[in-house]
Amino acid sequence: MTTLFPTTSAGSLPKPLWLAESEKLWSPWKLQDAELTEGKKDALTLSLAEQQRAGIDIVSDGEQTRQHFVTTFIEHLDGVDFDKRETVRIRDRYDASVPTVVGAVTRDKPVFVADAGFLRAQTDQPIKWALPGPMTMIDTLYDAHYGSREKLAWEFAGILNEEAKELQAAGVDIIQFDEPAFNVFFDDVNDWGIAALERATEGLTCQTAVHVCYGYGIKANTDWKKTLGSEWRQYEQIFPKIQQSSLDIVSLECHHSHVPMELIELIRGKKVMVGAIDVASADIESPEEVADTLRTALQFVDAENLIPATNCGMAPLARDVARGKLAALTAGAEIVRRELATSR
Ligand SMILES: [Zn+2]
Repeated sequence: MTTLFPTTSAGSLPKPLWLAESEKLWSPWKLQDAELTEGKKDALTLSLAEQQRAGIDIVSDGEQTRQHFVTTFIEHLDGVDFDKRETVRIRDRYDASVPTVVGAVTRDKPVFVADAGFLRAQTDQPIKWALPGPMTMIDTLYDAHYGSREKLAWEFAGILNEEAKELQAAGVDIIQFDEPAFNVFFDDVNDWGIAALERATEGLTCQTAVHVCYGYGIKANTDWKKTLGSEWRQYEQIFPKIQQSSLDIVSLECHHSHVPMELIELIRGKKVMVGAIDVASADIESPEEVADTLRTALQFVDAENLIPATNCGMAPLARDVARGKLAALTAGAEIVRRELATSR
């Protein structure tokens, strides 16, 4: 990647209306069987085209083949019973009915590897693939087998490592692990969360990223954000250890959040996906707003390490809004690119 400020999306993009209901999480599929398989592939192709038309440099599948960023991965594993459900508190924030771990968790077959190959075949651009992180996976399950969050996370880390190695072999350039749970369970993150994540990336030669955000723009998250006060310093608890870790890239929520940008200084040396697009609002940022966020970030990130991105996934947004936001991201990055070129 030689482009300065290569743009990317932090996660999911909205699905076409014919594939799933719009503007909601866990949206049920509208197609079935062979039609669903074909429909998911078409949606992936369409999502790629939309990213390319918006000028995005590091493209993804837009998570078009997944119903949810955590559960879809878990559905492909053994040891988890999706009919046996328990209500648990997710991210210490909201209650949800989740599946139960009833036995040893294993991955008997690849989960997203064919999808990644399908994407790879359609573009020469760098591609990024998102997987759930181990701590976020265990936070979305009820465990009736291991009796230890750490032990279960470690098992998942091994499984993620198998998947990640196959994704890399399929031509993925960046593997991103989504760990919103890192913003909540600070002690666990520092005790074993980052170690489990490093276990998931063991032996990889492609770039690795960790995405830590304040969540999708759903009500449970926006309500929670209201309780966090005027300054969100959660990143401060985990950045020192992340800085020491083997992860290459850290993906953060910055725009419109109350995260003091100077906290990014704590991960100096890492590549940083700077969230310059608010995913909790349907208002489309102006390129100038995006440029402002990037300029501020540049005080704490070396230019060659700055990757303009969205705060989080955009699955719950309308498609035209998401398209507009991606285009604004590209235009904002271009403003700062030009400024830097004339000042150097
Ligand atoms: Zn996120």
